[in-house]
Amino acid sequence: MSTQVVVEGIAAAPGIAVGPVYPYARDTITVEQRVISAEELASEIARLDEAILRSERDLRKIVDLAREKLGQDSADIFEAHLLILRDQELYENVVEIIRQESCNADYAVNQVMNKHRRVLKASGSEYLQDRASDLLDIQDRIIRHLRRGKLLSTIEPNSIVVAANLTAADVVLFSRRGILGCAMEAGGTTSHVAIMARALGVPAVVSAHGIMQVAARGNIVAVDGLSGRIVVNPEPHIEHFYATRRRRYEALVRQNRSLVALPAETLDGVRMQLRANIEFKEEIKLLKENAAEGVGLFRTEIMFLMRGQFDVSEEEQHLTYRKLVAAVAPDITTFRVLDLGGDKLLPTGHREHNPFLGWRGIRILLDRPELLRPQLRAILRTAEVGPIRILLPMVTSVDEVRRFRITYREVLDELGMEDGGIQIGVMIEVPGAALQADIFAKEVDFLSIGTNDLTQYTLAIDRGNDLVTAMYDELHPAVLALIKMTLDAGLRQGVPVSLCGEMATNPHSIPILIGLGLREFSASPIFLPAMKRIIRSVRLPDVEALAAKALQLSDGHQVRELVDHWLDENLGEIAHLLRAGTIDDLEEKDGAAGVS
Ligand code: PEP
Ligand code: MG
Repeated sequence: MSTQVVVEGIAAAPGIAVGPVYPYARDTITVEQRVISAEELASEIARLDEAILRSERDLRKIVDLAREKLGQDSADIFEAHLLILRDQELYENVVEIIRQESCNADYAVNQVMNKHRRVLKASGSEYLQDRASDLLDIQDRIIRHLRRGKLLSTIEPNSIVVAANLTAADVVLFSRRGILGCAMEAGGTTSHVAIMARALGVPAVVSAHGIMQVAARGNIVAVDGLSGRIVVNPEPHIEHFYATRRRRYEALVRQNRSLVALPAETLDGVRMQLRANIEFKEEIKLLKENAAEGVGLFRTEIMFLMRGQFDVSEEEQHLTYRKLVAAVAPDITTFRVLDLGGDKLLPTGHREHNPFLGWRGIRILLDRPELLRPQLRAILRTAEVGPIRILLPMVTSVDEVRRFRITYREVLDELGMEDGGIQIGVMIEVPGAALQADIFAKEVDFLSIGTNDLTQYTLAIDRGNDLVTAMYDELHPAVLALIKMTLDAGLRQGVPVSLCGEMATNPHSIPILIGLGLREFSASPIFLPAMKRIIRSVRLPDVEALAAKALQLSDGHQVRELVDHWLDENLGEIAHLLRAGTIDDLEEKDGAAGVS
């Protein structure tokens, strides 16, 4: 019998799949430089034109398929590939190399595209690194057509695709053949593959280093898109465990769906607000499906990061923003102005020793009005379509809010607009801001707690550093104390406070957060139904007592134990189901702790 092997990756699309491995290897194309004669130049360029035309035909088919299966927003991703394919500058660069180096078109395409991919990969931004795989797809496509080859995206039906890297186009094409799940060595959660897999409901694990070596044709594999774990050749009891876990998860999804129309209120009738965090326009359709009551955080920088540059015009921004506001109205859309810096690209090639403590968020915007002003204009012009509010990232001092307001008023004047009650809020992401929450609350209309950063800055633990990731803990009582401080200040000053970090989705945190006084949550739309389930299962006095206890404990581990116990006592079977759906500690409960 083959030995069981476990590979840990990153959960990219939720769900569990167990099935036969289909190793998908795009045969790597080696491109060699070939010298061509002066007479061949014209025909080489004609060959390039023909290959681009054929690639365009392929992509059109994929656009149609994506539109049919996933809707226009997903089709837009491939429309964007088409735009790259037709990009005049890119084309001219390739032709220039063919002419200057008297070389074959394959080589020239390779040179130009590799250069662009290198720039994206060196950006230090996970998001841009993921975009490099979009370029690879286009590059492969053109080169294959130059060789009259076909780029095949076929698999055996009902299998689990294991690959070094997949493109978004692959996943859409596989979906025609009933792909059960996918596991790949590369990729991040923001890759288009991950977005497509989530939209198609295909469980996926990315960043699974070594999976290609251990999963071969003929093996059975379990892909856990909730915990990020992959088990190759699972032993019978583990296979049984995953079959149970899959049934539980599917039951949870079905049950959660039935909650969509119900209000997010506790058993004793305390109403919570559940808004959505949005990054991509493809997610707009998920808002209604998951009953989001507006957008609590739109991370506007993603659009800029996709470009890798800062020339997204006011008009282009406005069109995207307008579409979002129109879809969300009559509910509110919260625009967070550009949060650049940290692990996200800077508007210069400048490198910092300590980027998370450096030029980031509002600091950049106040120094660079040429970024802030057009963005503000693009946002404010959407106010005629629906209700909006504006959120400032990485604020550490009230002075930053005052300086922002000067520009804000100037832009309103330029546009001939009245303020019209548009609310301005700040992210509470650094301990200093939480400690001064009363002062901020007097200056602004709302506060939004960003626990992803608040945790990293409170505990001095880089949120993206593998070496210290085990210590990163948003349930640490120090973090909880700062959250409480912010919520209390909001209450005293009559200013609403929401929470938009990942913590809002964690079943361990939700009862504590309600107990601390939180009433407004914002999270990725796919998590909202599961969050609602917990909210609808608790009583205010119980969670208040729980939160008070948690604040007295000495570390996050103790808090987790406390909540674990509490969930079992108070939520019983629901707690068990929730864990199966959202976190990976079910193994112990189901006696599968021996997975190794
Ligand atoms: C946060 O810091 O919690 C937050 C929501 O912002 P981001 O994750 O974009 O830094
Ligand atoms: Mg943040």
